[in-house]
Amino acid sequence: MPGSLEGRRVLITGASSGIGEATALAVVAEGGAVALGARRKDRLDSLVERIGSEGGTATALEADISDEQQARALVDHAGEQLGGLDGLVNNAGVMLLGPLQGADPSEWRTMIEVNCLGLLYSTHYALPLMRDGGGGDVVNVASVAGRIAALGSGVYNMTKWGVVGYSESLRQEGLHIGVRVTCVEPGYVETELQGHNKHPMVVERIEQERERLGDGVLKSEDIANAIVYAMSQPKHVSVNEILVRPTAQTR
Ligand code: NDP
Repeated sequence: MPGSLEGRRVLITGASSGIGEATALAVVAEGGAVALGARRKDRLDSLVERIGSEGGTATALEADISDEQQARALVDHAGEQLGGLDGLVNNAGVMLLGPLQGADPSEWRTMIEVNCLGLLYSTHYALPLMRDGGGGDVVNVASVAGRIAALGSGVYNMTKWGVVGYSESLRQEGLHIGVRVTCVEPGYVETELQGHNKHPMVVERIEQERERLGDGVLKSEDIANAIVYAMSQPKHVSVNEILVRPTAQTR
């Protein structure tokens, strides 16, 4: 039986770990072909090899998505290697939490450059490919933090809030060229994301929440499933927003 994404060509940013990696595997399992981008080329190469050895189609390019030219090269690579583009999963992101007072502004810049500008660049260069191919899907991975603000999360909130607002604007523009837009907003997913934090208050809070959630924490596959669900709907159905929390998550 054909998969629900048979023949679809999908670019996934931030595919070297976590949600991006799981999404690559889920798209391929449904019959799609994937192009993968991130900075850790060794991780991408292993994933491409794994997908290839299981009979799937995958290609990868090392790219820092916060650099416009590298983002453009990634989109070009995807279009050339896959013969067009029907989907873009804007997943690459960083979360560096902490109080605003005493924060290191370079961390703010990193979040804004990756979570916002990176997503804008890849979408900007992917849209014409999708338009010329008759349409496609843009899935933006935002966060519960794009809906609910918290102390210590101000700039991350700002970036994800921005992604949510941008997604609706893009939806209204994309519908004229056959492009659907979905914003996926995960709660606590066990990935490498939390591990980049250094502020003691943040580290403690993350550890406490992780312990509290126990086996109930979300897995990357749970979010990959939501992404595949949105992309595999019939053409007249546009799933615009999916917020997924661990059942036990309070906020
Ligand atoms: P990971 O840290 O496992 O994955 C993040 C991915 O983004 C990596 O592949 C990383 O690759 C990539 N990335 C980071 N910076 C750049 C860059 N400058 N250029 C290109 N790629 C980059 O975390 P998750 O899988 O959890 O994160 C995926 C998305 O999900 C993010 O947008 C995150 O904000 C969002 N999210 C995650 C939640 C969670 O609880 N885990 C909750 C809500 C949202 P590399 O380092 O190789 O470049």
